[in-house]
Parts: sequence; structure tokens; C-alpha cells
Amino acid sequence: MSDLRDLYQEVILDHNRSPRNFGSLNDADRHADGHNPLCGDRLAIAVKVVDGVVADLRFEGSGCAISKASASLMTEAVKGKTVDEFHRLFERFHGLVTDENVPANDADLGKLAVFAGVRDYPARVKCAILAWHTLRSVFDDTQEVVSTE
Ligand code: ZN
Repeated sequence: MSDLRDLYQEVILDHNRSPRNFGSLNDADRHADGHNPLCGDRLAIAVKVVDGVVADLRFEGSGCAISKASASLMTEAVKGKTVDEFHRLFERFHGLVTDENVPANDADLGKLAVFAGVRDYPARVKCAILAWHTLRSVFDDTQEVVSTE
């Protein structure tokens, strides 16, 4: 089990060091900002949707390793998926990080399963979920800054 924990940490550290899909997206048609006041994490996500599919997305911002790694892994997982698929993935990820009855080794979540470890640390759950709430707000067309509080 400790090997698995090390592996999880390695994935998070890797995505924190070299986040994927990081930067601005010139032809984005939707944007949202997210803020986690508890930790100070700030994210801006830009998305290009074509025919109901997330054709491209990028994020910018600054925050702790968990919030950054979560945003990075989320962009990898969501790119190429439909908006409906994103909403289903959101529910699964939300369950993974908040519900101790959800199996921590959900194979469908792939690398996202590394975040099962945060359910033991309620303060870090908000770091892990920030990018997901922010991206969801992109599709809700809300204009306000998303806050985890
Ligand atoms: Zn954080």
C-alpha cells in the first residue's frame, strides 16, 4: 500500500512540476475563474467546445500542488469528451474525493484515482475539486467567480 501511495504522490508531483494544457487558449469560446479562499488557489480555465465536444481546454493560475495537479489531470481526462461525459465524470470524481463509500480504485477514473487520498484531508478536498467546479461553471454559463466557500 505504501508503494501505491508513493506512486500517487509521484503522479501529483509530476503534474505540479509540468502541468499539461497549461497556458492561454487563443480561440477559446468560454472562460471561467475559480478561487479557493481556504488555500489561496486561483484558476482560470478556457474552453473551446465544438458540437458538444470539449475540443480543447487550457488552464492558468497559481495554487498548491494538489490544485494544480488536479487541473492538469482533469484537462487530460476531459479533452475530447462530450460535455455530458464531463458531467458524469464530475460526479464520479466528486464521489471519489468526498465519499468514503466510493471505491478508491475506480478503474474508469484512470490516473484521477490518485486523488482518492485527499478524502482523509477535508481541507485538501477543496483544492482537488476546484478545477472541476470551475469547469462545470463554464458549461452552466455562470459569470461569477467560482468559490469553493
Ligand atoms: Zn490548495
